[in-house]
Amino acid sequence: MSTLRLSLPLSAPRTSLLHSSRRFFSSRFSRFLPSCYPGEIEKLQRGCRRVQLFLKMEFCTSGSMDKNKALVEYLQQHGVLRSDRVAGVMETIDRALFVPRGNPPYLDSPMPIGYNATISAPHMHALCLELLKDHLQPGMGALDVGSGSGYLTACFAMMVGPEGQAVGIEHIPELVSASIENVKRSAAAPLLEKGSLSLHVADGRYGWHEAAPYDAIHVGAAAPEIPKALLDQLKPGGRMVIPVGHLFQDLQVVDKKLDGSIVSRNETGVRYVPLTSRSNQLQNY
Ligand code: SAH
Repeated sequence: MSTLRLSLPLSAPRTSLLHSSRRFFSSRFSRFLPSCYPGEIEKLQRGCRRVQLFLKMEFCTSGSMDKNKALVEYLQQHGVLRSDRVAGVMETIDRALFVPRGNPPYLDSPMPIGYNATISAPHMHALCLELLKDHLQPGMGALDVGSGSGYLTACFAMMVGPEGQAVGIEHIPELVSASIENVKRSAAAPLLEKGSLSLHVADGRYGWHEAAPYDAIHVGAAAPEIPKALLDQLKPGGRMVIPVGHLFQDLQVVDKKLDGSIVSRNETGVRYVPLTSRSNQLQNY
């Protein structure tokens, strides 16, 4: 049996690096999060408040996989995880293998992974997987830009399977090396070995031509605007999920129709690290 301890509000440690999802919190804590504030100051206040409202969970269970399962159940109970398929893959890929030692892996919060980067919060991973799941069918191709810890690339690889292709690109070589080690310890290890999962050092703003076009593209860092190369590398009928903006961003869901036209919508407000140059990211690190 697992027990859950919840506490609110909690200030988060490195606010500039935190991700948040209004929808997740508004479903559970709507009185804290009005859905609409007009004006820029209010937008800033909303963002700060969201960051402060990070939900902390502590699972009193034995065994890492039990705790991972409890995290998945928690996300299901709160309506973030809606499909059995996404819940199944998040259960299979143990988050603890992707969070650096010394950090609590099962808190619903982003965690530092070094180099001014974070592994996204579980509810953001769940949300992005739910948004992309129809484009992560067995045999399909997926690109994870800003793959960081490698967690989502591993999930993508499990979903597209050995006949598909999951590519992660990350511009910090040390993070790519660490992510490969993380994947090797996970249930996705055979896919890495066989080559249907690969992780590369590259500037994500230019995508990864070698395996393009992709059915699904996820961008794990915020771009000021959608990079053209990524739009070009999206297959007709494909979907991209990308945070767009500066300090506070919109998580955009971008669909490329079969005729090549683009339709996009905003899913929710978020806060991601920027999609930028390596030197810019490593300033003050
Ligand atoms: N989805 C990842 C998120 C990591 S944070 C996870 O949950 O682990 C965003 C990542 O984007 C960071 O690792 C950062 O180094 C990377 N990043 C930022 N700008 C980039 C760029 N231009 N090219 C590739 N990766 C980039």
